[in-house]
Amino acid sequence: MTTPGCAGSGVSPASLTATAGLVPVRVEPERVIRQVAGLRPYRPSGFVLRVERLAEKVIVHDYGHGGGGVSLSWGTAHLAALEAQQTGHSRAAVIGCGAVGLATARLLQRRGWQVAVYARDLPPETTSNMAGAQWSPTGVFDPALATPAFEAQFQQASRTAYRMFQDLTGPYYGVRWVDNYMVSDEPIATERFQELLPDLYPDVEDIPPRANPFGTRYGRRFATMMIEPPVYLNAVMRDFLLAGGRLVVRHFRDRGELASLEEPVVMNCAGLGSRDLFGDPELVPAKGQLTVLRPQPEVDYIYIDLREFLYMIPRADGILLGGTFETGVWSLDPDPAHAQRIIEGHRRVFGRMRRDAYR
Ligand SMILES: Cc1cc2nc3c(=O)[nH]c(=O)nc-3n(C[C@H](O)[C@H](O)[C@H](O)COP(=O)(O)OP(=O)(O)OC[C@H]3O[C@@H](n4cnc5c(N)ncnc54)[C@H](O)[C@@H]3O)c2cc1C
Repeated sequence: MTTPGCAGSGVSPASLTATAGLVPVRVEPERVIRQVAGLRPYRPSGFVLRVERLAEKVIVHDYGHGGGGVSLSWGTAHLAALEAQQTGHSRAAVIGCGAVGLATARLLQRRGWQVAVYARDLPPETTSNMAGAQWSPTGVFDPALATPAFEAQFQQASRTAYRMFQDLTGPYYGVRWVDNYMVSDEPIATERFQELLPDLYPDVEDIPPRANPFGTRYGRRFATMMIEPPVYLNAVMRDFLLAGGRLVVRHFRDRGELASLEEPVVMNCAGLGSRDLFGDPELVPAKGQLTVLRPQPEVDYIYIDLREFLYMIPRADGILLGGTFETGVWSLDPDPAHAQRIIEGHRRVFGRMRRDAYR
């Protein structure tokens, strides 16, 4: 999780007002309600969006979104739905009931398709439930490996998703706009994904040290959306069922099993499961561990500390404290050493927070 670039950024009196009096998170061991970990489906060269034939079936792949799958979901689903539309069919099996599968299922329904979702796990058991989720397609690809064709697809998907999530703001879907604070003692660099999407972060401002509540040399505030996955995924699943969708709990052990499905088009949104199902060794887990504190409704901003990769996301079901991004690690067990680093790091940050920084 990182920050947008500062194209056009500057310090304005408006930012000083907007960031005045941020409420610190109460990082106390007795407020910890759970420790959890999730495995991001990471592909260094980027997600897969392509069509393949398997005997009589058309398979449309849409998987491997790394640390930005909730953010990108409607965007890649839109591109996948365009591919499905080319087949001339109107019945699809969607494999996977995470953010990507559900968005895909809904977009096909909106085009008049009959859709069944088949999944081994349903919310709240998916990786998508683990996401923060900050709207920001970060941790999705390694810039050294991404091709121009992938970057073009990434830009298109990001812009579509950014627009579509705006239509979902409000309590029903659990989507809202929040301020994000990014801090560091080094100048904050612009990452490749931010260079590709400057228009998606229109409200970015640098914060001068005297006005920085986190006391670091550099600070930046930007606005983006935040999605509450437990609320959001249930709402989209409800929409899917209300529109006549069929939900089947099923674990596909290999791609041959897909041949038995009655639907002629299969949308592969199996996330990390695609590695075994379709034999893609580039797809690896990037483990993310979270320490969750009791909810603190008065905290309504996201915080990202670049000094040692710590982040805080205030969800209704708890304050999420991260972060880790461990590629190749398959264990879902929280690591005690990471848990200690996360809690101690956030305790230092919020213990020193200045509430008068903007006065
Ligand atoms: C700690 C953490 C923080 C994150 N924060 C953010 C964030 O702030 N913003 C953001 O955008 N993203 C974030 N992410 C990343 C995001 O969670 C993933 O990119 C996203 O969940 C991927 O969605 P998906 O639908 O592809 O996969 P999943 O949610 O994993 O869903 C995959 C589905 O496929 C099913 N499946 C898999 N294999 C099979 C099989 N063989 N047969 C049948 N069904 C199968 C599964 O059961 C499941 O239903 C975070 C992730 C973690 C772990």
